Amino acid sequence: LEKKETERIEIFIRKLHDHTIPSALITNPSNVFYFTGIAIDPHERFLGLLINAKEERSLFIVPELEEEKAKESHLDLLVYKDNENALEMLSKAITSTSLGIEKEHISLKRAEALAYFTKLQNKDFSGYDEVSDFIMEMRLIKDPGEIQMIKQAALCIDNALEKCMTYIKPGRTEKQLKSRLLAEIAQQEGTEGAAFDFQVSAGPDASNPHGITGDRAFEKHDVILIDCGVNYQNYRSDITRMFFIGSPTKKVAELYNIVLAAQDAAINTAGIGVKAGKVDIAARMVIEKAGYGKNFSCRVGHGLGIDIHEAPSIHDKNDSQLKAGMVFTVEPGIYIPGVVGIRIEDDLLITEHGAEVLTHFPKALNEIIL
Ligand code: MN
Ligand code: MN
Repeated sequence: LEKKETERIEIFIRKLHDHTIPSALITNPSNVFYFTGIAIDPHERFLGLLINAKEERSLFIVPELEEEKAKESHLDLLVYKDNENALEMLSKAITSTSLGIEKEHISLKRAEALAYFTKLQNKDFSGYDEVSDFIMEMRLIKDPGEIQMIKQAALCIDNALEKCMTYIKPGRTEKQLKSRLLAEIAQQEGTEGAAFDFQVSAGPDASNPHGITGDRAFEKHDVILIDCGVNYQNYRSDITRMFFIGSPTKKVAELYNIVLAAQDAAINTAGIGVKAGKVDIAARMVIEKAGYGKNFSCRVGHGLGIDIHEAPSIHDKNDSQLKAGMVFTVEPGIYIPGVVGIRIEDDLLITEHGAEVLTHFPKALNEIIL
């Protein structure tokens, strides 16, 4: 392990001690990465990191095909073959009377099987404790190295989008633009592809906040929504930009400027000590005042980092205070079903000196008319 991962495990162990939890099993691959520096997508196979707080020892449980990768962690490994039962093997290493798990991640089937095997040899085993929140609290505040990665991810998506602008023309389809953007993302040095299965929607398709990318061909005067991001060494960016083929109608231009003003209000509100909910409310007020409150149904943003959606959730009822090192999106929108959807999304870092916008792609109306 590198120093930062060792320190993270130490902090986690302290939290376990504070809650008198003797050991914990981490199974969420993003959290396994956070503590080991090793990114493994196990698909349906079992992946785990057993952290014994009492003995301050860790055991990394990996399928055989990931053994070489896992070795880089220099942790003790428990390697299992496809014809072996990982949970039964793991149960032999569980000597404590209870085990912390991420209840939001491990399946009930696996948790029950693990408890069954553990009780066979450890009669005092009583069950599980929840530790998801301890890790969430840690990941909420990004360290300088993590911030650097997210900044790179933001820079890469800015560049990839820029490269695609001349490709947006009447006749091109949503899918064609998406594959072009994917290619540009792949060209960016250090990236590991898109941050998520992203969206390119045109015309009325954009009115669905989680719209799919289809075969619709762009037409003159179309509104095009691109919501995309980059995975840069396992850290993500997330940006939404609108493009207009030719000048938008007066109505659409008006909607766009409302959303832009709402986003501006949210960004200007964010800062250390501010309640997260206030950021949402700032954007919501602008959109409500303009008469479109019911067309902005979702929260204004979400945290991002190793995962594209993580804590904090920026919704109006979140009373927790923003702290330096938090990174989250600000993405107000106006969605008129079947007619038009406008969203503008940027990534924000809370610093000692205020909120820093990490994504820089132009968004003034006159800069996005093609
Ligand atoms: Mn997005
Ligand atoms: Mn987002």
